[in-house]
Amino acid sequence: MTETIVVVGTGVAGATAAQTLRKEGFAGRVVLIGEEAALPYRRPVLSKDLLAGSITAERAQLEPAGYWADHDIDLRTETRVVELDPRRHRLRLWDNEILDYDAVILATGARARHLDHDGGDRVLSLRTAENVAPLRAAIEAHRSLLVVGAGLIGCEVASTARELGAEVTVLESAPSPLARIVPPAVAEMYVGLHAERDVPVHTGVALRSLTGDDDGVHATAEDGRAWTAGAALVAVGSVPDTALARAAGLTVGDGIVVDEAYRTSAAGVYAAGDAMEQPNPVLGGRHRTENWNSARAQGIAAAKSVLGQPLGAAEVPWGWSNQYGHNLQFAGWSRHDDDYVVRGSIEGRDFTALALRGDRLVGAIALGRPKDIRIVRQLVAAGAAVDRGALADESVALGDVAGRRAAATPASL
Ligand SMILES: Cc1cc2nc3c(=O)[nH]c(=O)nc-3n(C[C@H](O)[C@H](O)[C@H](O)COP(=O)(O)OP(=O)(O)OC[C@H]3O[C@@H](n4cnc5c(N)ncnc54)[C@H](O)[C@@H]3O)c2cc1C
Repeated sequence: MTETIVVVGTGVAGATAAQTLRKEGFAGRVVLIGEEAALPYRRPVLSKDLLAGSITAERAQLEPAGYWADHDIDLRTETRVVELDPRRHRLRLWDNEILDYDAVILATGARARHLDHDGGDRVLSLRTAENVAPLRAAIEAHRSLLVVGAGLIGCEVASTARELGAEVTVLESAPSPLARIVPPAVAEMYVGLHAERDVPVHTGVALRSLTGDDDGVHATAEDGRAWTAGAALVAVGSVPDTALARAAGLTVGDGIVVDEAYRTSAAGVYAAGDAMEQPNPVLGGRHRTENWNSARAQGIAAAKSVLGQPLGAAEVPWGWSNQYGHNLQFAGWSRHDDDYVVRGSIEGRDFTALALRGDRLVGAIALGRPKDIRIVRQLVAAGAAVDRGALADESVALGDVAGRRAAATPASL
């Protein structure tokens, strides 16, 4: 009988997993199932080029429409998997169709986190391609937008909406924007970037209410501050979609728990992408990523694991964000409270901020320095001790800093 591998989720992790099965020569049946109506697409463009209108939805697709059938991948969009029975190796779809599998890869991704406030239909969120048109229409109709949440997506939408000519105000509960991933000095630089475009970023906002009526949306903070705009985007993070795995009795922590080979706690069930957490190959413990490159790499690795192929070393994660034409890149597992050494100038908007824990490099944030990010990923993966002085000394090539002693005075944040 033909072997069947089912992939749940048509995001980049799932789509890449299905493609990899074929690229690696799997000749059995491949079924790729996703709840969204759109063919697999590049999610990062939602807040950037697609919202800006500089590319079409078709150009956002991962592959041309005919690709999936041409590669004998049974792609089923607008189809939700409602039940996983790992004991019987069986899935149930929302129209009650039963699919038996030999292996299944769960790539169910994440969903936008919602606030408890019910602001009506002028309060929007952005996670899927379907969310883009209503957001764009609201920006065009009302010309003013309140962005609740100054994480990467909130800041990107603020930038795009401003470039579309809207008045934009950003509200953030933390003391600074992008608080989860960048150190305070970089956050301050971002506040400056937004301020130059007349986009105020209000921080420390404990939202008391967010309501909508015919006049617009109204936000009030616990400390009495208040804002009004034509529409609001709530961008307060995402939550991994682990519902299917949890209901099936799989081990779930922050995400669906997998081992080094992307195997979940149930035989024949694998997981990849934003929905899963895996062992951290460098720092120990476990981690869950939320970026495009990692989801793609995990999709490839999970498919290879299903086929019993060697996986190689797990990658050090890295991602990017575009705001007002500036390309921010980040790599590794840096946190805002790490000890940072800076190459270049944050004020000059040309820098690499290297995150240290003890004498170990754990990650970096860079603006306009993609080459540094490539080297940082290698250094982090090697887990080698680095010298602070050499790190801060731009005359020492970044690739040469491991273990080197240098006399320069480190520049700290
Ligand atoms: C607006 C936006 C901008 C971003 N920008 C960047 C960026 O600039 N750089 C970067 O590195 N990352 C960015 N990201 C993050 C990146 O897009 C994600 O990390 C990545 O897409 C995750 O891929 P995934 O395949 O794991 O999950 P997802 O892309 O979330 O896909 C999961 C899919 O599974 C489907 N699904 C879930 N449950 C079921 C079920 N039971 N049955 C059927 N289907 C199901 C979902 O509908 C979804 O289509 C951005 C994300 C967003 C939302």
